[in-house]
Amino acid sequence: MKRPKIVVLGAGYGGLMTVTRLQKQLGSNDADIVLVNKNDYHYETTWLHEASAGTLHHDRVRYDVKDVIDRSKVDFVQATALKVDHQAKKVILDNGELDYDYLVVALGGASETFGIQGLDKYAFSIVNVNAARQIREHIEYQFATYKAEEVKNPNRLTIVVGGAGFTGIEFLGELGNRIPELCKEYDIDQKLVRVICVEAAPSALPGFDPELVKYAMANLEKKGIEFKIGTAIKEATPEGIIVAKGENETEEFKAETVIWAAGVRGNPIIEASEFENMRGRVKVEPDLRAPGLSDVFVIGDCSLVINEEINRPYPPTAQIAMQQGELVARNIARLVKGNTHLESFTFDNKGTVCSLGDDDAIGVVFGKKVTGTKASFMKKMIDNRALYMIGGVPLTVKKGKFNIF
Ligand code: FAD
Repeated sequence: MKRPKIVVLGAGYGGLMTVTRLQKQLGSNDADIVLVNKNDYHYETTWLHEASAGTLHHDRVRYDVKDVIDRSKVDFVQATALKVDHQAKKVILDNGELDYDYLVVALGGASETFGIQGLDKYAFSIVNVNAARQIREHIEYQFATYKAEEVKNPNRLTIVVGGAGFTGIEFLGELGNRIPELCKEYDIDQKLVRVICVEAAPSALPGFDPELVKYAMANLEKKGIEFKIGTAIKEATPEGIIVAKGENETEEFKAETVIWAAGVRGNPIIEASEFENMRGRVKVEPDLRAPGLSDVFVIGDCSLVINEEINRPYPPTAQIAMQQGELVARNIARLVKGNTHLESFTFDNKGTVCSLGDDDAIGVVFGKKVTGTKASFMKKMIDNRALYMIGGVPLTVKKGKFNIF
């Protein structure tokens, strides 16, 4: 009998959890497993703010996919997935096609600009390793050019961060530590540097405990970050950004560097493949299958799971993507073994820690509020845990964060 073919798209948190669990739960003769990823490496998306600010080298945030898969059981295909044809049960890649019996879509998210003019053209987004490297190099170039040019352009030393959500705040925390280093490196008076965070919502870190938000903002302000809360970006231009001021007025902030960190949507392949979706995310069934498709599972940032307690979607996180990957592996293993009774997904929220640089953080872990070095220590343990869950001790030793303080 022909072995069923399981195709997993994306070697991020969700995809690698699925594959590393499937390779343990299925024997070589049970199924053919194929993993497709754009690059031959996985990157820790949750560390990209560090690579973007330049506080961690980009090679530290990635590792080879082949280091964590069992090559006797899993075929790795390096390709970009373009579209899923669910009628024909195949995936269109940039270098060919793959048919499947079971498909897992774990392609992560993309930046959501909410139609704000100019953002896609003039702002950077922290979305992958290459984008992180570009942001780091762009900031360094601005500092170097400012120092070298005869007629000084002060806007080279202004950085605007759009969004004071999780990603924006974590990036600001790193910038707060990196700016003094850059000033020293390029011999620039730190008073000339401006880092402005613009947030449309009435508070930073919506959904976080207000006391922790106050702590985070106060500590970032001490590092020189300026906050413009309740201020919406109207447009990004080649010179900077234009924000709304009052009812009908606008104000311009001139900046050579604008980072947009305020929105995530699902991977564009979801819309291209005509899945039922909301902003590129599929509202999945309890067993994580796409509605009406018994052979397609969607996880991570491409999926949308409702938190029944508040009747709103869970924010997309690595934590949820990894838990979904574990469940999908179990469900596919059941289907392969002829068991059609699938498990439902329940998110086990272990807490959230938001870093404020290498030495500070805020968070709620197992229901307890934590700040400062204790929270920062926990953040590193969470980062190490993700490595351990996917690659065990060898990967944790190779890539883990052990610079405790
Ligand atoms: P990803 O882990 O992003 O992986 C997607 C994979 O698919 C990548 O390998 C990518 O290269 C590949 N891919 C994409 N498109 C294609 C294609 N067309 N063809 C082939 N391959 C493709 N979450 C937390 O839980 N805690 C945090 O502290 C946290 N911090 C964050 C900090 C930052 C700066 C950012 C940006 C996000 C943070 N998140 C955090 C969110 C978290 O990173 C995401 O929710 C998580 O990465 C989603 O996992 P995923 O498996 O869906 O996708």
